[in-house]
Amino acid sequence: MVKRIGILTSGGDSPGMNAAIRAVTRVGINAGLEVFGIYNGYKGMTEGYIEPLTRESVGEIVNRGGTILGSARLPEFKDLDVRQKAVKQLQKRGIEAVVVVGGDGSYRGALALTEMGVNCIGLPGTIDNDITCTDYTIGFQTALETVVECIDKLRDTSNSHHRCSIVEVMGNRCGDLALWSGIACGAEIIVTSETGFDEEEVLGRLRDLDLIKKKRHAIVVISEKITDVDQFAKKVSLNTGFAGRATTLGHIQRGGSPCPFDRLLASQMGEKAVDLLMQGIGGQCIAIRNNKIVAIPITEALGMPHESRKPLMNLFERLV
Ligand code: ADP
Repeated sequence: MVKRIGILTSGGDSPGMNAAIRAVTRVGINAGLEVFGIYNGYKGMTEGYIEPLTRESVGEIVNRGGTILGSARLPEFKDLDVRQKAVKQLQKRGIEAVVVVGGDGSYRGALALTEMGVNCIGLPGTIDNDITCTDYTIGFQTALETVVECIDKLRDTSNSHHRCSIVEVMGNRCGDLALWSGIACGAEIIVTSETGFDEEEVLGRLRDLDLIKKKRHAIVVISEKITDVDQFAKKVSLNTGFAGRATTLGHIQRGGSPCPFDRLLASQMGEKAVDLLMQGIGGQCIAIRNNKIVAIPITEALGMPHESRKPLMNLFERLV
């Protein structure tokens, strides 16, 4: 029977990670476990930066953005000898199993640890919604709210100046933040890795919006890593009737108090992770699929293709 478990947050932080830490700690303690916080992801695990968590130490955090445990990247964790050091740190403290909150990379680390005898369960903590096995990741809905609030504000000023606002949002090659926010904000054009980017075609559409549809402003929502939005804004000014202005929302999208959906999702997923670890199960990650909290083997989850967003893209086209 497992007695001591650890929890860490890894990779990019996301709002709701604290709610997951709280859930794992409280559900664990209430089930008779001892719960340890591993600071700064796998880096802290390797260095032995590990402290006990209590019911009180995870109080007043359910509403806080970021992660009280800190997050870090440690590329060397791919090396067996580095992981062996980490496993020794856990063994020294009698920690037999770990909950890992992070993205795909963190899941790979969790799988590697499980294969070394430390059962790990992954929770999807990222604003990008780029973990294919789950309908939603912890932090996506909060980031979406932030993006929508920002674009609404840009719309006000664009409208006053016959501008085209080009808004770059995060997503790490996943277009969900761009697509969801574009629909919610009534954007004129959405560009994601799935839609592809044909610069000439987008400029042509902007000219139509200006000359034929007589739009006072236009909003283009574009996923990161697709094009240089500052350069594109200049081309918009040169080739259309709009004054192009680029805004990169950047890390503001990662911050803020988690919305109720993310707090609930994190709590439910944390509960499920503890239950699995208590049953001696590892190497799985938690997902929400069709409104149910489920566990999926990490090996399977990492190979899943991204679900097509065609229906939402079709809806968007019908709304313009
Ligand atoms: P995310 O978890 O958000 O995808 P990263 O890809 O940066 O973020 O991964 C977070 C951390 O997970 C890395 O810094 C590294 O410590 C660990 N990690 C990533 N890939 C592997 C791997 N193949 N094997 C072991 N650990 C890994």
